[in-house]
Amino acid sequence: TTLQAPPLGALLEDIVLRHRPDREAGSIPGNIPLLAAVPFNRFGIAVATTSGEVFAAGDAAVPFSIQSISKVFTLAMALGGDSSGSLWHRVLREPSGTPFNSLVQLEVEHGIPRNPFINAGALVVTDHLMDNAPDAATRLLQFLTAQAASSGPYIDEAAAAGELANSSRNLALAHFLKNFGNLHQPAEAVVENYVRQCSIMMTCADLAKAGLFLARAGRGTLGPVLSPSNAKRVGSIMLTCGMYDAAGEFAYRVGLPGKSGVGGGILVIVPGECAICVWSPRLDTKGNSLAGTAALADLSDRTGWSVF
Ligand code: GLU
Repeated sequence: TTLQAPPLGALLEDIVLRHRPDREAGSIPGNIPLLAAVPFNRFGIAVATTSGEVFAAGDAAVPFSIQSISKVFTLAMALGGDSSGSLWHRVLREPSGTPFNSLVQLEVEHGIPRNPFINAGALVVTDHLMDNAPDAATRLLQFLTAQAASSGPYIDEAAAAGELANSSRNLALAHFLKNFGNLHQPAEAVVENYVRQCSIMMTCADLAKAGLFLARAGRGTLGPVLSPSNAKRVGSIMLTCGMYDAAGEFAYRVGLPGKSGVGGGILVIVPGECAICVWSPRLDTKGNSLAGTAALADLSDRTGWSVF
């Protein structure tokens, strides 16, 4: 997909200069108290290439809360261990067009979430992982540590505790799922694992490296993570469902599969080329990083990186 090889290091430095916020704008999530302490002008970007290089600029070495970006990796872990395809009896693959924590569709669809990247669907994926081993968040941390080949990732237990104390809505979703028979484990245990998985702290550089298997047809750092078909499918779900109810707008502006989190991170895949992670904490009204989205639109325009 590359038009020509760009001088990537210099380009990323320029992206930081252009897109690092110089004044406070946007919002922060209300349900995770610790995120309010992150300075508004943080901005990092990293590109891990399929040829094994990592380019980074700005605050790319500062750990941040990965939040919903974790949903890409739990889905990959669930699919990797799910040869029977049973997960897809429990969650759909359609964009929701509603906010990430919406309850409404869950009732209409009889407890089958629209996709694995809204909260209801992610709770089902976590529950599916817990069927094999109860400590799904720790297993996710081990997976990320291995893929990033880094001892950097860790769970911010204080952030998790802060979110857990504000989890009425996610608990409601979990109980609703349970009511429809679509949760195997106790609702409280699933939400606790889910909140801890969201509270993993990683740098842009480590997240780009960890996501690289999706740009390499499922081939991870230590061997296959997913079949090529499943890697394609995860990318497709990122493209259609990865950016909350702004997936269409993001596809229009960036043209690449991505997954964002309310910590301000966005992981983007350029199939065959690279994985990109950008981070800046202030969010637009849909919950996506304001500066991060703008930077990715700029980067894809200037490199020609796109799936189109
Ligand atoms: N832990 C967050 C929540 O469930 C994740 C939100 C997100 O990043 O989309 O509210």
